[in-house]
Amino acid sequence: DGTAVGIDVGGTKIAAGLIADGTIVARHRVVTPADPDALLDAIVAAALQVMPTERLTAVGVGYPGMVTADGVIAAGPNVALKSFPLASALSQRIGVPVVVENDAAAATWAEFRLGAGQPVERNLAMITLGTGVGGGLVLDGRLFRGSHGFAAELGHMIIRADQRIGPSGIPGEVEAYCSGTALRSLAVEAVADGRAPEGSPLRDIRTITGGVITQAARAGDELAVALLDQLGHDLGVAMASVVNLLDVEMIVVGGGLGEADDLLLDTARATMWTHVLGAQRRPEVPVVPARLGNDAGVIGAALLAASRG
Ligand code: BGC
Repeated sequence: DGTAVGIDVGGTKIAAGLIADGTIVARHRVVTPADPDALLDAIVAAALQVMPTERLTAVGVGYPGMVTADGVIAAGPNVALKSFPLASALSQRIGVPVVVENDAAAATWAEFRLGAGQPVERNLAMITLGTGVGGGLVLDGRLFRGSHGFAAELGHMIIRADQRIGPSGIPGEVEAYCSGTALRSLAVEAVADGRAPEGSPLRDIRTITGGVITQAARAGDELAVALLDQLGHDLGVAMASVVNLLDVEMIVVGGGLGEADDLLLDTARATMWTHVLGAQRRPEVPVVPARLGNDAGVIGAALLAASRG
């Protein structure tokens, strides 16, 4: 009947929603626990919190890591459960079938069906900029999962071979330059190097967050503008490879940092275009902000559960 529970497990918070006909009709949000058992308990509690009392609703979970077709977590650089049969453990505890999907793949599906990707006929890529950097692909109208469920990890594409190491341990990956976590570290390093102008809100490194940097950039803070510009450039390089490899119709950018919008995306678009093959001869590939914002993961997980469950 189009009703399902969606849960988006993030590096910093867990969001749960009851979805009816594509909209969220009840929500719940908690901080992501650092301990694996507590994380599992928190996911169960979040699901039960929004689930109607008769409990007959399918549950979908978007998880920030590598997820196999049968819902086993194989790895997750930014969260506590790194190797675990999550779908079966949750089904047992909640008492209904639970579908687990990669978080960014779930968000991508939501944007394709109900968000910014709606005009796309066949091929869409999405990149999510949060604690980590996630990716999702819709190819020929279907979510592309690869051979083992591990495809579309756009955050682990290499943009600067053998350089800065991300949380996954991979040197030179997108996540080491373009995540909220990376942006914060790059800001802290720049401040330590004396690059923060007099009066800059970034000077107090205890309070630097992605949001603070975005706000400072909007107010014209030189360092904040430079940091977002560099991030946009790195993002554009990564997106050029996505276009060269897959010839997608559109790229959607989501996640918390996606809110920086044109501060990031103007540079990203320009850089992407100077790094794609045959730029003058191919149709434009719009790079657009996610339309469902932070709800994309919750909605996508619910849509996938409703169709598979
Ligand atoms: C993980 C991805 C996840 C992304 C966003 C990355 O570090 O490898 O699986 O989608 O973070 O949460």
